Amino acid sequence: VPEGHKVHRISRAFTADFVGKKIAASSPQGRFAAGAAVVDGRRMTASRAVGKQMFLGFSGGHWLRVHLGIYGMWDFAGKIREQVEVDPRVGRKTLATPSGFSAAGFPPEPIGQVRLRLATAVAVADLRGPNTCELLGADEMDTVIHTLGPDPLSPNGSADEAQAEFVRRVTARKVAIGQLLMDQTVVSGIGNIYRAEMLFRAGLEPHLPGRSLTEETAALLWQDWVRLLQVGVDTGLMLTMDGLDPQETALALASRADRHWVYGRAGLPCRVCGTEVALEMMAGRKLYWCPSCQR
Ligand SMILES: [Zn+2]
Repeated sequence: VPEGHKVHRISRAFTADFVGKKIAASSPQGRFAAGAAVVDGRRMTASRAVGKQMFLGFSGGHWLRVHLGIYGMWDFAGKIREQVEVDPRVGRKTLATPSGFSAAGFPPEPIGQVRLRLATAVAVADLRGPNTCELLGADEMDTVIHTLGPDPLSPNGSADEAQAEFVRRVTARKVAIGQLLMDQTVVSGIGNIYRAEMLFRAGLEPHLPGRSLTEETAALLWQDWVRLLQVGVDTGLMLTMDGLDPQETALALASRADRHWVYGRAGLPCRVCGTEVALEMMAGRKLYWCPSCQR
């Protein structure tokens, strides 16, 4: 499942090249034919990511809600200004420069099971394999968004209110902080990698109940998420180590194995203290942590 930074990047691509434009919508695969017919020919009015979900607004008060889930992917083609990660299964090149656009081959034939195609005169976005793709009215969208925990880049109120909301949702619960961080009703956008890394960065033992955290500790966790998410959106990478020298930075950029404090490092020595990084299952997901640094 893409973590929040990736969904924000996709949302940004829609903002750059689709919002404000009249959209031709279709369902080449047929499974979303009725929904596509509703938005076909309408103007896209907004693109908003909240955690792992994205909401695309259309004139007439229609909202498309997309949750990619494990297998879902957007694939862009044509004149796209934002660099978006390419779906390796399709391998179509996402164009970062207008020079790559050729009207001759546009629009490209849909490849595979495209649930929804959204197209302007010069750009195409194909959606494959989403967990959720549905149309909502504005009220329904509000309801969905209000069940979600705060997202630093898409708060319902001010940044301070978003932080207070996170602190409240964490410190009221008996559930382990390692579980709360991945609960999308507590905070939006954090997945397995950010969870492990944030707990390490905070020196927090993952099994501590949320309500045992002080408000200050919870606030610091939130502020760390704000920072990490912004880096993720800016770079497209989950860069979770700071204080690296230039050589270490180059390694972290080039390779996932050199990018994280504890994630994916079970049995390897902790980068800080040398203790073996522990791996356990928490709520069905792999949790990596250092038993010495985090206690
Ligand atoms: Zn350690």
